[in-house]
Amino acid sequence: QPVLAVVGRPNVGKSTLVNRILGRREAVVQDVSGVTRDRVAYDALWNGKRFTLLDTGGWEPDAKGMQAAISAQAETAMATADVILLVVDGQVGATAVDQAVARTLRRSDRPVILAATKIDDSRGEGEIAALWRLGLGEPHPVSGLHGRGSGDLLDIVLDAMPDSPRDDVDLDAGPRRVALVGKPNVGKSSLLNQLTGETRSVVDAVAGTTTDPVDSLVEIDGETWKIVDTAGLRRKVGQASGTEYYASLRTKAAIEAAEVTVLLLDASEPISEQDLRVASQVAEAGRALVLAMNKWDLVDEDRRHAMTRELERALVRFPWVERVNISARTGRAVQKLAPAMRTALENWDRRVPTGQLNQWLSDVVAAKPPPVRGGKQPKILYATQAQNRPPTFVLFTSGFLEAGYRRFLERMLRETFPLTGTPVQINVRVRE
Ligand code: GDP
Repeated sequence: QPVLAVVGRPNVGKSTLVNRILGRREAVVQDVSGVTRDRVAYDALWNGKRFTLLDTGGWEPDAKGMQAAISAQAETAMATADVILLVVDGQVGATAVDQAVARTLRRSDRPVILAATKIDDSRGEGEIAALWRLGLGEPHPVSGLHGRGSGDLLDIVLDAMPDSPRDDVDLDAGPRRVALVGKPNVGKSSLLNQLTGETRSVVDAVAGTTTDPVDSLVEIDGETWKIVDTAGLRRKVGQASGTEYYASLRTKAAIEAAEVTVLLLDASEPISEQDLRVASQVAEAGRALVLAMNKWDLVDEDRRHAMTRELERALVRFPWVERVNISARTGRAVQKLAPAMRTALENWDRRVPTGQLNQWLSDVVAAKPPPVRGGKQPKILYATQAQNRPPTFVLFTSGFLEAGYRRFLERMLRETFPLTGTPVQINVRVRE
């Protein structure tokens, strides 16, 4: 989601304005603290548009002076925001510091919007005309006291923002889409039969003609799911020799068409390279994943233990995947599939509030700072979740983060927020 950075001297009414934007009356409470004390990120929503509000505010008493501190704010804003809002005190007018900041911000390739606060009545509006001198275009008057003008200001700010995907939670409403994949003879058709036979409710053939259904609506555990490409399962396409290539294309297409993939493994056989490749494909496609160990009825106690160890080794890259042990033939534990799919999808949909994310980040970074590279300690400025499905996070940093440290962050992220069953992506934006 786009980032709006708010820059301004202390006491110009910035916090009041920030609170207006966030729709709060009380003063900003520091329970949602940022990574460093002088930077706080919040989730904001205006007219159905989500964005991150970065308050570069705060004041370090030991800062080298207002000039230095505020230029640091401006630099951070220019490096990380999509739109910058400069707040000046409309009653005081542009100070030397304001002018210096404006000079810096004029270099920005991002839109900069100028707000003049404390304009509580129309008399003040004449005075702010002088703010045109800052060279940032029209000064927009707002009253912190009455909130006058802040709605108009936000409309202007949002117009300047790049379009973000709207809240997509309801975008593709309808049954959740599931791909059932796995090697030939692992039991995919049996599982489909078990699921549909059990509930006697292949509700409908969705696409294609009735004689060649592509997807099936199936009721599992009281919920309707769409199983993609069931035609492939029923007709066993790709199982004759020489068609492996097409079978793998079909698997890939099914994974991409689905939101969650159920990867069937044969518990009585060693895990194959091919199985791991499919798991990677799901993660790379950014889809949720559930592992189903099928033919559990065939394996004895010893094999179960051996296989669990084998799985742990094979799946080191997917420690986040939930596993269910089932038998498509006997119907054993098949009812555990739906809860696992639901959990995976819920986490795939997850949005971590920016405040919580940055609280987490400051705790983690305080406990273990990023390793020094080239004599420099990279600083992590703040984080925001750019997207869900799958959860995608952006870290704004002052330097490159090593892959090992990024993996560490992912591990810690998964310890704090429920993300079982979904891949996550962590992107790093290094500020120039
Ligand atoms: P597909 O190629 O993945 O669709 O596999 P099928 O569903 O056709 O199953 C292949 C074979 O494995 C068939 O003979 C099934 O009866 C058998 N099978 C499937 N699931 C199980 C299971 O859970 N336990 C046992 N013992 N056999 C199974």
